[in-house]
Amino acid sequence: MKWHCRKSNCIMMVCILVVLLLGGCSFLKKQELLSQTYVAMGTVVGVNLYVEDLRLGQETQTLIADSLKELENDYLSYRVEDSEIWKINHNSGNTVQLSEFLYEYLQEVWDISEKSGGALDVTIGEVTRLWNIDTYANAPEGFVIPDEEELAAAMERVGYEKITMEQTLTIPEGMTIDLGAVGKGIACDVIKEILIEKEIPAAVISVGGSNLLWGEKENGQGWIIGVTHPREDGAYLGYLRLDKSCFVATSGDYERFVLVDGERYHHIMNPETGYPAKSGLCGVTIVCDSGLLSDALSTACFVLGKEKGMDLAKLYGVEALFVEEDGNITMTEGMKKLWLTEG
Ligand code: ADP
Ligand code: MG
Repeated sequence: MKWHCRKSNCIMMVCILVVLLLGGCSFLKKQELLSQTYVAMGTVVGVNLYVEDLRLGQETQTLIADSLKELENDYLSYRVEDSEIWKINHNSGNTVQLSEFLYEYLQEVWDISEKSGGALDVTIGEVTRLWNIDTYANAPEGFVIPDEEELAAAMERVGYEKITMEQTLTIPEGMTIDLGAVGKGIACDVIKEILIEKEIPAAVISVGGSNLLWGEKENGQGWIIGVTHPREDGAYLGYLRLDKSCFVATSGDYERFVLVDGERYHHIMNPETGYPAKSGLCGVTIVCDSGLLSDALSTACFVLGKEKGMDLAKLYGVEALFVEEDGNITMTEGMKKLWLTEG
């Protein structure tokens, strides 16, 4: 687009701008955007804080980064030695005391496992380990489809219903818990608490496919977030206009996958088969008021497919968007009201 601007008009606009800026400085504190991008919890994290006080913003950035490290190292990662999940996995067959923090989240996870008929099952660890898609997604050289017998043996060690949990947790011998489907959502919940504590007026946070849109910008405008096109790199299918704080999570078969003879082996497993879920979907987006729920339900709905996924979304009262492999899009009524075809 060409910009036509007469010289006199330009001078007038600059003058108005200067007046506005000077006037604003004297009686209004302006929100500034503090942005950071880094890798944490095995994914890309974006922290965008709208703050009036830069020092408070920087303090909050540090607190968020420290909390993500703590979450991964002390609680959630099955790869980090001595994390709570690592200890549970390395004490399979024995009873382990749970922290209050993990106990509360795991109770919710178990509830979602039950209500989704096992489509979300964090005891899937032995199966995800065998497929090891995370490792081969960026470097497919050497990837092999797991041997059927080995897969069957790993499947013997899957099943949330085999677990007893109170304040303590006992998992059967050889079982591995993998919180990959819910960890980023939990991280967004934890960050929300920090934003409240620090009284941050507005923020946009992304932890991989899990997002938190928080507060209100000073211009009173809501948030617009793009929904990634599952098959076109860098393109968006459409946008969501969100007027109040919420969590938005997307799960898809296009994030981490390996192609073998045209077949797509991706990282979301069907706990009934032990193979990557083939539900006719290539992406699911959930909007709701909990990070954990948005993350857990996007994974569960992906496994369940459009019809059953829609039922689950309605059961939890969340908004959902399903993208089928043929490009067809289906949404809950509430999601339709948020949907924009142009950003
Ligand atoms: P992402 O990690 O890309 O955000 P998801 O939230 O959908 O995607 O979680 C996928 C991860 O969850 C996998 O990498 C794996 O670790 C784990 N996982 C895969 N299938 C399931 C399942 N059916 N239930 C629970 N966890 C799963
Ligand atoms: Mg998930």
